[in-house]
Amino acid sequence: MNHVVWAYSENEGVSNEVASAATDIVKGSPGEVVVVEIAQPRAGIRAPGGRLLLKGPSSADSPGVVAEALYRAAKELQPAAVLVGATRNGRETASRLAAKLRVGCMSEIYNLSSDGQSLLGERNVFAGKVVAKVTCALPAVATVKVGSYPRMESAPGGTRELDVGGVDSPIRVASREKKAVGAVDLKSAKVIVSAGRGVKKKEDLAMLEDLAREMHGALGCSRPLSSDLGWLPEEHHIGLTGVSVKPDLYLAVGISGQLQHTAGMKDSKVVASINTDKDAPMFQASDYGIVGDLYQVVPALRRALSAHG
Ligand SMILES: Cc1cc2nc3c(=O)[nH]c(=O)nc-3n(C[C@H](O)[C@H](O)[C@H](O)COP(=O)(O)OP(=O)(O)OC[C@H]3O[C@@H](n4cnc5c(N)ncnc54)[C@H](O)[C@@H]3O)c2cc1C
Repeated sequence: MNHVVWAYSENEGVSNEVASAATDIVKGSPGEVVVVEIAQPRAGIRAPGGRLLLKGPSSADSPGVVAEALYRAAKELQPAAVLVGATRNGRETASRLAAKLRVGCMSEIYNLSSDGQSLLGERNVFAGKVVAKVTCALPAVATVKVGSYPRMESAPGGTRELDVGGVDSPIRVASREKKAVGAVDLKSAKVIVSAGRGVKKKEDLAMLEDLAREMHGALGCSRPLSSDLGWLPEEHHIGLTGVSVKPDLYLAVGISGQLQHTAGMKDSKVVASINTDKDAPMFQASDYGIVGDLYQVVPALRRALSAHG
C-alpha cells in the first residue's frame, strides 16, 4: 500500500468534488491524488496528481464493470484509499469494489481525513439529526457525500494508462433520454420559497412562484407535492429523498417540518416559516416564524416587497 488516494465518479462534476475530498486526505502528507477514468478521458475532469485511465472496459455505464476495472487496477497499484462519488451508480460501484477487495467501505462521508493508518470522516444519520464520526482501517473504500466539497477548479496533471483487460457486463444501457427538467436550480439558489401541503390547489402554487421570482429565488416543495400529487417535477422536492439545499434564505410555506424534509434544508443560513399551526415542528427549525394562513400572509408579503421596490 502507498499513500495514493484515488478519486472516481462517473459524473464529471462529482468527480471534481471527489478530487477535492481526496486532496483534503493527503493534505500535509507525502500522499497524492489520482483521478481515475474508465475507458475514455473526459475534458472537464480535474486531476491534481494526474489521471489514471483504465483501458479495457468499453464504457463506464455499468457499476459492475467499473467496480471490476477499479478492482483489477487496485490489485496492481495498491492505492491507500479509493473515493467514489455517492451517486446512485457510485454507491453500487463502491460497495462492489470493497467486497472484491475485502476492505471496509464507508458511505456518504464528508470531512474526510487520514492519520496514515485509517480513513476518518463524518456521516449524517437519523436524517441529519446526528453526525456519526467513522473510521476505517486503510486500505479502504468510501463514497463521498455529493455537494459536501467544492468542485476542484483547475488542476493540470498528466495521464497514465493501465490496461485492465476486457470487462463485460450482462447489463447494457439500451438508450438514454434527457429528462425534461424544469428551469429550477435549487442547489445554487440563494433564496428558496418552498411549498407544502398547506397549499390547497395546484393553481395556488402560482402565488408562491411569483413570490419566489420577486425574491430572485426558486420554488421548492415538500415531497407530497411532487411525488404524491405531481404538482411539481421531482427536481423541486427537498429533503432526505430529494435535493439538499443551503440557500441564504429558506421560506417554508405550509410545511409541517418532518425530519425527512428538514434533512434537506437544515444547512440553510436563515429559515423562515409560515404555518397556521403554532406547534408545527417547522418552527423549531426556523429563525423566524409567522403563525398564520398562507393565503393571507403570502399576498401581504408580496405587497410589502413591491412597496419596497
Ligand atoms: C422514507 C421517507 C422519505 C421521505 N422523504 C421526504 C423528503 O425528502 N422530503 C419531504 O418533504 N418529505 C419526505 N417524506 C415525507 C415526510 O415524512 C412528510 O410526510 C412530508 O414532508 C410532509 O409534507 P408537508 O409538510 O408539506 O405536509 P404536512 O405534513 O401535511 O403539513 C402541512 C402543513 O401545512 C400547514 N397548513 C395547512 N394549511 C395551511 C395554511 N392555509 N397556511 C399555512 N399553513 C398551513 C399545516 O399546519 C401543516 O403543518 C418522506 C417520508 C418517508 C416515509
